[in-house]
Amino acid sequence: MTNREPTILVIEDETPILHFIQTTLSGAGYRVVGAEDGKEGLAQAMAWNPDVVLLDLGLPDIDGLEVIRRLREWTSKPIIVLTARAQERDKVTALDLGADDYLTKPFGIEELLARMRVALRRTARTEAGESVFQLGELRVDLEKRQVFVAGEEIHLSPTEYKLLTVLVRHAGKVITHRQLLKEVWGPLHADDAPYLRVYMRQLRNKLEANPAQPRYLVTELGVGYRLRVD
Ligand code: CA
Repeated sequence: MTNREPTILVIEDETPILHFIQTTLSGAGYRVVGAEDGKEGLAQAMAWNPDVVLLDLGLPDIDGLEVIRRLREWTSKPIIVLTARAQERDKVTALDLGADDYLTKPFGIEELLARMRVALRRTARTEAGESVFQLGELRVDLEKRQVFVAGEEIHLSPTEYKLLTVLVRHAGKVITHRQLLKEVWGPLHADDAPYLRVYMRQLRNKLEANPAQPRYLVTELGVGYRLRVD
């Protein structure tokens, strides 16, 4: 198989934004496919099986959230949603439905390219099925269930470890409070946000050099958390 450049599908009805993204991504060496509404976007996704989908939530025909639902029926490739400030609530719903990340308009070229790299790296890592996760001084061995910071083993409680592994499995991706609560404590606890705050504080105290200004376990205000990889 030849090593082809990653294909990015951009679904965006505002032509100037679509063109800005297409120009930026082509210039960075990606193959870019554009679509101006949800129906065309879904058809292009089927035709190209893109490596990343950039999806505007406010589309003229199908709701962007519905587009995510339909894409997630058959693909697990990263979806990055593009949102306007007024769509804060939709942003969380989009992540709950399986989107990986979001960019709030207006965003710059560097931000767009950085998110793209993170999304593609996550896919590569998932596909390689790596069992050791290394990020700066943090090292998580998922097979041996060991965690190290700067070479020193850190003892975590079972719940702290579970929480960390969920973040590691989704490294780089924003995970909502609901998703984390469901994955760590189970679906009956999806709304027990205080649990999460307590355990996140403990985890930061054990893993971060400065827990008040976390380097790895960052807060996405009003949304959830992200294990930062860049
Ligand atoms: Ca729009």
